[in-house]
Amino acid sequence: MKQTITAKLKLLTDPAQFAALRETQLAYRDALNYVSHYSFGHGKKSNRRALQDACYDDIRLLFGLPAQMACNVPRQVGATYKSLWTKARHNAQARKAGWTKKRFKGLDKPPKYVSPTLTYNYQRDYSFKKNQQVSILTLEGRIVVSYRGYEKHVAFIQQGVTIGAAKLWYDKPHKQFYLLVSLDLEVADPTPEIQCQVVGVDVGQRYLAVTATPTGQALFFPGKQIRAKADHYARLRKRLQKKGTRSATRRLLAISGRERRLKHDRNHLISRRIVDAHPLSLIGLEDLTHIRENTKRKRGKHASKKQRRANRHASSWAFAELHTHIAYKAVLAGSMAIKVDAYHTSQACPKCGYASPKNRPNKGLLFACLSCQYTLHADLIGARNIVLRTLLTRHDWVSTGMLSVSPDVSCNEAKARERQRFRELRWSTDTSPCHRGVG
Ligand SMILES: [Zn+2]
Repeated sequence: MKQTITAKLKLLTDPAQFAALRETQLAYRDALNYVSHYSFGHGKKSNRRALQDACYDDIRLLFGLPAQMACNVPRQVGATYKSLWTKARHNAQARKAGWTKKRFKGLDKPPKYVSPTLTYNYQRDYSFKKNQQVSILTLEGRIVVSYRGYEKHVAFIQQGVTIGAAKLWYDKPHKQFYLLVSLDLEVADPTPEIQCQVVGVDVGQRYLAVTATPTGQALFFPGKQIRAKADHYARLRKRLQKKGTRSATRRLLAISGRERRLKHDRNHLISRRIVDAHPLSLIGLEDLTHIRENTKRKRGKHASKKQRRANRHASSWAFAELHTHIAYKAVLAGSMAIKVDAYHTSQACPKCGYASPKNRPNKGLLFACLSCQYTLHADLIGARNIVLRTLLTRHDWVSTGMLSVSPDVSCNEAKARERQRFRELRWSTDTSPCHRGVG
């Protein structure tokens, strides 16, 4: 099977090359804004073809962009308008149904492109040279730049894996250009013999992640400090948003970048540690797709104690991103991530299957089953239930030869059958899938 990864290459530019890249990038951004204005003045068009026909010559003439790059501009603007139209449509429906009173303002004025990310097509706009160098198209023609990157990624490029499009990204505070290159890797298809270990990963508030294995190992990734920091950024962001002055907007940009990077870096770190600690594993993650629907936010008097506690967090953690990072790194480490049903993972007793919110008295640190008196650290319950469900998936995989990578939520009957099987799952310390003596 194929796995796409992104290699981040630091471009070691000399001043002339730096200037050429910056000039190209800014010209591209200006072209985006030009086409955005055109589209806005002509019925907020999102059709790429129409935008291209109307603007192509101007883009070439006014901004001096090379042909390929000039084609990317209307495509990107078209995509932006298309997604704004979708949002506007959803908003109209929501207002009609009375879910919201807010009017969508995204199409009130032409969307403005501030941070230009330039897309380069492989072999047309950029290509790799010998001696760890890359040739990149600019307004001034092609330049050949040395680059540095993560050892493994550089090796992939040199071994000749399938190389895709790249994005030129500018780190403004450090005045540094990066090329983000997408690479298609061929990795072995998963089999129960290769992925012979099982681990469950639970995500949450107090701990960003907790892992558990059938043999009783566990890893805890605390979230208190990092969340406090993220909340601080989020509150600052809100204040600046209210202020709305020019300098506030400028700071807002910096703050939201910091907030995003903080979460991103931490997610990278956690996923790396989890994947490294569990090579050749089937990694169970909760299916979070349908969770948000159940947690309609309430505030003030209408909110329950739990909701108010959750609302205190000014920022939400990017758990979906964490899952993506895990899944992505897993494949490269010979593991495989799957999604399991998240239903009652934090309430069900792993020992006897009895599920109730009362199994966790006062939402405290201790899980105490009302039915069988089994007690355990509350934050471990979720991870253990996920392990059990992952073991069940693995069991089905071995017996049917088919691996289901996400729970079947389309059919209520299948869902009910599956949940009945969950209730019959029992935790015992000897549920390891690997036969002793093998490996
Ligand atoms: Zn129990």
